[in-house]
Amino acid sequence: CGIVGYIGNRDAQPILLNGLSKLEYRGYDSAGVAVLEQDRIKISKVEGRLANLSGRLDHRPLKGSAGIGHTRWATHGKPSDANSHPHADMSGKFTVVHNGIVENYMALKKELERKGIVFTSETDTEVIAHLLAEQYQGDLVAAVRAVIRKLQGAYSLGVMTEHEPDKLVAVRQSSPLVVGAGQGENFLASDIAALLEHTRYVHILDDGDVAVMTPERISIIKAETGEPVNRKPVRIDWHA
Ligand code: GLU
Repeated sequence: CGIVGYIGNRDAQPILLNGLSKLEYRGYDSAGVAVLEQDRIKISKVEGRLANLSGRLDHRPLKGSAGIGHTRWATHGKPSDANSHPHADMSGKFTVVHNGIVENYMALKKELERKGIVFTSETDTEVIAHLLAEQYQGDLVAAVRAVIRKLQGAYSLGVMTEHEPDKLVAVRQSSPLVVGAGQGENFLASDIAALLEHTRYVHILDDGDVAVMTPERISIIKAETGEPVNRKPVRIDWHA
């Protein structure tokens, strides 16, 4: 239902939680964040209100300056800790948050299970994490492009891997996603409202766009061809 992401030089956890709080009005049944802590992905996710997640993070804060977060509105699999996003592959080195529905997930899941992949949730989303691990050959953007060629349906994504800790990759397909440009830091969100306190310069992604974010750079390409998209950021003047 809601996606946020941060990559920069500040502590990611409070920025992600604050962003998610701006998306609460859309409704959700669970929430979670993944943060790169000393180049290891650490996930905290829980059924229920954002306050539950904050409470858990108070006990065990995640320290790092890159991360993704999600508020879930369950479509496949009941609301539960295990079904909450972010989801990870078996190695734990790839993680993903997803808005929408992967229509063909059952066929993909069966194929992965035949290859010995063990699923830990009932979601359609989890196939994406396992497919990323399967397709990865040293280039996250290439892996993301290969994976989304296999997906049908609606899938706006935020993706992160331990292999490329200075990078977040986002995909928009049928579900809104924007990238906010900061100075030495960049932001991802499914709704401009989650970015406005950090920046007013926003790239509004189109269907089929892949955004590659580092602390210093945002580049947007077309998923299908890999061609760069030269779209200027928009300046947002309204107040949330
Ligand atoms: N289909 C996914 C799930 O049920 C994502 C739902 C959402 O957009 O929050 O986990």
